[in-house]
Amino acid sequence: MTELELEEEKKEIVRRYRRLLRHAKPYLKGDDAKRIKKAFNMSVDAHKNMRRRSGEPYIFHPLAVAQICVSEIGLGTTSIISALLHDVVEDTELEIEDIERNFGTKVAKIIDGLTKISGVFDQGTSLQAENFRKMLLTLSEDVRVILVKLADRLHNMRTLDSMPRNKQIKIASETIYLYAPLAHRLGLYAIKSELEDLYLKYAEPDVFNMIVEKIRSTKAARGRFIRNFINPIQTEMRKRKFRFEVKGRPKSIFSIWNKMQKQDIPFEKVYDLFAIRIIVDTSMEEEKAVCWQVYSIVTDFYQPNPDRLRDWISTPKSNGYESLHTTVMSRTGTWVEVQIRTRRMDEIAEKGYAAHWKYKGSTATSHESGLEMWIGKVRELLEKNEQSALEFVDDFKSNLFAEEIFVFTPKGELRKLPAKATALDFAFEIHTEVGAKCIGAKVNQRLVPINYKLKTGDQIEILTSNKQKPNEDWLNFVVTSKARSRIKDYLKEQKKVAASEGKEIVKRKLNQVKLDLNNETVEKLLGYFKYKSTLDLYYSVGKGIIDPKEIKKIKEWRPVKNKKAPISDARTFKKEITELTGRESDMLLIGEDMDVVDYTLAKCCNPIPGDDVFGFVTTHEGIKIHRVNCPNAIELLSKHSHRVVKAKWTSQSEISFLTGLRIKGTDRVGVINDVTRVISNELKVNIRSIVTETVGGIFEGEIQLFVQDTKHLDTLIKKLEQLDGMEKVSRFDPA
Ligand code: MN
Repeated sequence: MTELELEEEKKEIVRRYRRLLRHAKPYLKGDDAKRIKKAFNMSVDAHKNMRRRSGEPYIFHPLAVAQICVSEIGLGTTSIISALLHDVVEDTELEIEDIERNFGTKVAKIIDGLTKISGVFDQGTSLQAENFRKMLLTLSEDVRVILVKLADRLHNMRTLDSMPRNKQIKIASETIYLYAPLAHRLGLYAIKSELEDLYLKYAEPDVFNMIVEKIRSTKAARGRFIRNFINPIQTEMRKRKFRFEVKGRPKSIFSIWNKMQKQDIPFEKVYDLFAIRIIVDTSMEEEKAVCWQVYSIVTDFYQPNPDRLRDWISTPKSNGYESLHTTVMSRTGTWVEVQIRTRRMDEIAEKGYAAHWKYKGSTATSHESGLEMWIGKVRELLEKNEQSALEFVDDFKSNLFAEEIFVFTPKGELRKLPAKATALDFAFEIHTEVGAKCIGAKVNQRLVPINYKLKTGDQIEILTSNKQKPNEDWLNFVVTSKARSRIKDYLKEQKKVAASEGKEIVKRKLNQVKLDLNNETVEKLLGYFKYKSTLDLYYSVGKGIIDPKEIKKIKEWRPVKNKKAPISDARTFKKEITELTGRESDMLLIGEDMDVVDYTLAKCCNPIPGDDVFGFVTTHEGIKIHRVNCPNAIELLSKHSHRVVKAKWTSQSEISFLTGLRIKGTDRVGVINDVTRVISNELKVNIRSIVTETVGGIFEGEIQLFVQDTKHLDTLIKKLEQLDGMEKVSRFDPA
């Protein structure tokens, strides 16, 4: 780098710092600005010789994270300082004590929390989950740890371009698996949507670019439609002297893609590409009345769909979201979603938790308690939890995204539960003891079983009996993590009782053949009965699943020696491949490593050459090759990343791969003939099966065929699409 370039860089750092201060200004008081400056100087100094992978000076990153905290989450001085210093303890010479001495315990605690969770997913599975649990524990201490962490993750996702492909996929998967749901749960809608869009950008670049392009090319027409639609509403609102703003924004790329996937439709058929948002300025006291007045104006012009009215003003979502949603019929015959809310509600919807603080104390509003309640629940779950960390992450995650229902106690108290919650979930929500003894419920005076699915508005009275006990089957229909973990705790307790009885039996039986219960005999028992844990073994003895007489047989039994330790994770894979092929590599070359490494193509996604793939080390079946966009990929990549090996196709392979095509079009004479002609004319394509069906002049078909690679498949799809009457050709994975 030249002197001049370095000079330019320094100026740029100062420029970015000044921008940060400018945005933070409204939040600053006392000596805040001085403290921020001190943190900035400390960070610049600590990171001075470091650069990011992109080549930029490292300080750009903490500056950007602080900037996100201020302008996108609305956080203040403590968070800005923490963001500026968030990487110093982990990456530089500075210690947490240095932070504490200079900035006090609050900042030190936050940075300590951030440092601990920095590698949530970098180590082994259980450790990752354990770290995630720790991260949530800090949530109950100081939610700012999670907020700064989300800002950090957002900036890393925004700058993911400079990472190698396998890292991109791993980071993107973690993001969609945990961070986006977490942002959603904390009410940070803008950040949640951006994280999802960025995930798609890296996981499925083709799809992402296609949707971006289509949104762009339909922009003018959409703008015209929106202007015509809102025109009469605006005129009327102005006449009545409302102060307001109207926005017509397209939905996020990820949510459009989700719709296309779920309903199996092309972009053009997604009708609710955008929502109209009316934001009114009004005082806190008049909020509700004003929103309903606007609703009345909107529905004077357009007929509403009575099934699509959502009133999140009277009952806010528990992440704090408040708004009035209605879907109305436009004059061109399409449904349009209209969201009505006040300036305050809009700010909370965009910025979430931090914005709540700003309005705290203005009046006693219920949305606040909703979020506080959730944090309280997380805390409770963490403190009294005996599940393994991994189980916990799964349970917790399934609760993050769930839609909610609102139900009532016999006294008319409102309770929020995730959708699909049952009477038993409600019982556990009331009290652990009530849940454990629940035998049924009265819902709206009617007697129902414990697995009855609750609906919004239900009033529930729980029926209990002292004879009732939780059982395994209950886990099949409860959905709240509270109920799940309580039932599991109970079952585990029961298991321990049975196991300790089993252990006594084992001791007695061993004694009869003059053996002691020690490490050696335990190993033998596990090997003989093929069990992985002693708890399971003793339990099976205690429950009579294992015949106690069998135990004595281990005196004569000798285990067969294992020939070779199987590949168990990415690291052993690397060693193994170097030994076998003599080359230094951590990449599986599909085709070339065919005979040396035991691998198969995953049945869930049927990869073919050309697909973006990775290898996953399974416990029993060697390495499985999955497509990056396999439905199971996100979970595998984010939760078990230490078992993921990089994989790439080698080009020379002459093998064929099974894949499937779905075709749809208008029926005419000879169409099947044409389809088979196109396929068999294509070099080296073999049809395995073809099934078609014609209903009301439309034919649909599924063809299973063997192709060489994606390029080959694409050519074929193009040719089929050109056939007369063909409407749609798409790929599917034959199970
Ligand atoms: Mn960072």
